[in-house]
Amino acid sequence: MLGVSRLVAGYGAEPVLHGINLKIRQGEMVALLGANGAGKSTLMRVLSGLHPAKSGGVHLSGEVLNTMPAEKIAGRGVVLVPEGRQVFPELSVLDNIRLGGFLHAEDREARVQGMLERFPRLRERQHQRAGLLSGGEQQMLALARGLMAKPRVLLLDEPSLGLAPKIIAELFEVLDQLRREDMTILLVDQMAALALALADRAYVIEGGRVVAQGTADEIRANVDLANAYLGNAAPTPATG
Ligand code: ATP
Repeated sequence: MLGVSRLVAGYGAEPVLHGINLKIRQGEMVALLGANGAGKSTLMRVLSGLHPAKSGGVHLSGEVLNTMPAEKIAGRGVVLVPEGRQVFPELSVLDNIRLGGFLHAEDREARVQGMLERFPRLRERQHQRAGLLSGGEQQMLALARGLMAKPRVLLLDEPSLGLAPKIIAELFEVLDQLRREDMTILLVDQMAALALALADRAYVIEGGRVVAQGTADEIRANVDLANAYLGNAAPTPATG
């Protein structure tokens, strides 16, 4: 569904992404792993049109995306839930959700109600200013806003960042539910073990290059990668 070929992008003379190739099939959840500074957020920003590619291409079902402005890309259904949530703090929870449906006015109010059912914590706080929500609630709100944009591909950038373990578990339950609904998802998360537990496949990026790819099981079973990216969850190599 989404294809990235030989993608080069950066901020100055030296590129940050050095020819990334990846693909995401319909209904797949793909995890994008890598250390800080590997280029994951840059890739997410290029995919959603917020940052230009220097060369290479991004395609959605065969249509070239990377020459389109960000709002057209969102209209095609490539929807970014950005790092740091970026909710509108002065607007109510309800209005934040509604704004996600800006391009799809037809059945908007019914779908807003659907989001309040999916995220009961947001229903309780629907009339509060979004800036008053906890980090976990803001993340749920950012996700609800993204889902309102009718994603064909959902790009999730570090959804668990800075959240308490209990909230992270809740968040991953929501992601698991989306996966079971056959949503196509590209997930960047520092919680690599959790991300791999849900994902079908994964790519590992280092220094702006894909250094490993495979099924989630293959990536998990790779001891070197596990030690580098999975922390305590790494399988220990056989000894003796
Ligand atoms: P993290 O997990 O820390 O967010 P990341 O893998 O998402 O890391 P990026 O945020 O894409 O990495 O950053 C990749 C490189 O690009 C880093 O060296 C970073 O310093 C640089 N970079 C990111 N944003 C900018 C910017 N706006 N201007 C200049 N350099 C940037």
